[in-house]
Amino acid sequence: MSEIRQDKTTGQWVIFATGRGKRPDQFEREQEGERQLQQHDPSCPFCAGNEGMLPPLVLEMPGKGGEGWATRVVPNKFPALTPKGDTVRSCDGIYVTMPGHGRHEVIIESPYHNEQIGTMSVDQIRIVIETYHRRFVDLMKEHGTMMVLIFRNHGARAGTSLIHPHSQVVVTGMVPNYIRWREGEGQRYFDAWGRCVYCDVIAFERRDRRRVLFENSSFLAVVPYAAEVPFEVWILPIEHQASFGQISDRAKQDLAAAMEDILGRLHRHFSDLNYNYVIVTSPQYRAREPQMHWYLQIRPRLTTRAGFEIGSGISINPSLPEEDAEVLNSLM
Ligand SMILES: [Zn+2]
Ligand SMILES: [Zn+2]
Repeated sequence: MSEIRQDKTTGQWVIFATGRGKRPDQFEREQEGERQLQQHDPSCPFCAGNEGMLPPLVLEMPGKGGEGWATRVVPNKFPALTPKGDTVRSCDGIYVTMPGHGRHEVIIESPYHNEQIGTMSVDQIRIVIETYHRRFVDLMKEHGTMMVLIFRNHGARAGTSLIHPHSQVVVTGMVPNYIRWREGEGQRYFDAWGRCVYCDVIAFERRDRRRVLFENSSFLAVVPYAAEVPFEVWILPIEHQASFGQISDRAKQDLAAAMEDILGRLHRHFSDLNYNYVIVTSPQYRAREPQMHWYLQIRPRLTTRAGFEIGSGISINPSLPEEDAEVLNSLM
């Protein structure tokens, strides 16, 4: 028998149909397996030594002991949005349109072509988080910025075109409806109960334990109760914080430890899993809200959205969160 669960933070329903014959051990075999890559690829614009192929740097973080570099930020060569133009809406007959104003940058996570965030050390991940944070804070200050979205696509099925380890940042001059919808749910809960729904979810999960994967003094990692895809993981700051911009130096270290643990487990279990992760955070003007709570959302690409999902917006997850947590916890 299938089960329908509701995500407390969005109100979104998810159908769990575990009888559909897609069990975790089957996902495992469908993975492509690890590719053999060299440390340096002469045709890769992100590799050290290939700077001629790279647009001018936005930011560079020094390597260990000040030698070389650890991470770099460059404008995306094929940007979805550019700083040109403004955020003025205009009419096109009955339609509304605006210029493609914003920013699109690439965060190169390592000088080495064959590095993987899933196998990086805590210290290396810490520098990646530091780079995210610096760009987040600076881009939020820019005129016209409404949202800064940091995300990572890993593997062909997750939409990446370049193998070299990298994340992306997109800045938009409008707030997407999806973000407003999430805000609206948080606000309704806060108005009804006087508490942040994410803080309540964290408190419940810490007591319940069935879906908990990892915990340190600043972060909790869980398979969410109404996960939309198999092996989805949320890494949430335990203390209430609406915006990623507010993360402390101590918490950056703790987030690096949580990511090293979780991404490492996913990497080992699925041998080079295709996934996306996103820093879900508040847009401009919402950074101190008592009802919003940022987190890192990891979405493995083990299933494909099909007709029912497109027509209803409701996901069918063939895998139960408690069982996914059990599998990931057996890898400790
Ligand atoms: Zn490379
Ligand atoms: Zn909260």
